[in-house]
Amino acid sequence: MRFSRLRLNGFKSFVDPTDMVIHEGLTGVVGPNGCGKSNLLEALRWVMGENRPSAMRGGGMEDVIFNGAATRGARHFAEVALHLDNADRLAPSGFNDADTIEIIRRITRDAGSAYKLNGKELRARDVQMLFADASTGAHSPALVRQGQISELINAKPKARRKVLEDAAGIGGLYQRRHEAELKLQGAEQNLLRVDDVLEQLA
Ligand code: ATP
Repeated sequence: MRFSRLRLNGFKSFVDPTDMVIHEGLTGVVGPNGCGKSNLLEALRWVMGENRPSAMRGGGMEDVIFNGAATRGARHFAEVALHLDNADRLAPSGFNDADTIEIIRRITRDAGSAYKLNGKELRARDVQMLFADASTGAHSPALVRQGQISELINAKPKARRKVLEDAAGIGGLYQRRHEAELKLQGAEQNLLRVDDVLEQLA
């Protein structure tokens, strides 16, 4: 499974629809300062489910929508589509029945984000799990931000262990365990309430 195409529309400086084919092997993005190289990497992170505006260098998530220029008005939505070549059928189970997987994230002003996978709506969590199970995602250590190397050098051991766990593709398992624990706590609370009611009835 590999990234094969990235389409942007209204995302940050990419106000016009932009379609990039990602060929096998090494891809380099070159251009003058401020032309949008980092915005491309952020688009990749965003479509994989990034939910921290700070990771997008913004104050709120709507800051990823093109906010206007001298000659162009602001847009009302931003959309990023990522194609995954799944000809080798290495996508995690549940997502593995097509040669190409297309994930689309769209944000509309005052309406938040919505995701689609091959045309079907799905939750942010499902997109995050898909990439976590494939050992990548918005927080993948393979996507190196400016300043991230020094952050890693100064990080506490627990934070460094998380980097290794994400690289090993077990981050999704921890997330599932956390959700299962929350459900268990909810069930325990419900049982306590049932006991109270039974006591009152006795
Ligand atoms: P450098 O080489 O200096 O790191 P870069 O090529 O990585 O630059 P980016 O940081 O990706 O460039 O892009 C910065 C540009 O994106 C700025 O011109 C900024 O105004 C523009 N930009 C960021 N967010 C938006 C937005 N919401 N709407 C319009 N333009 C935006």
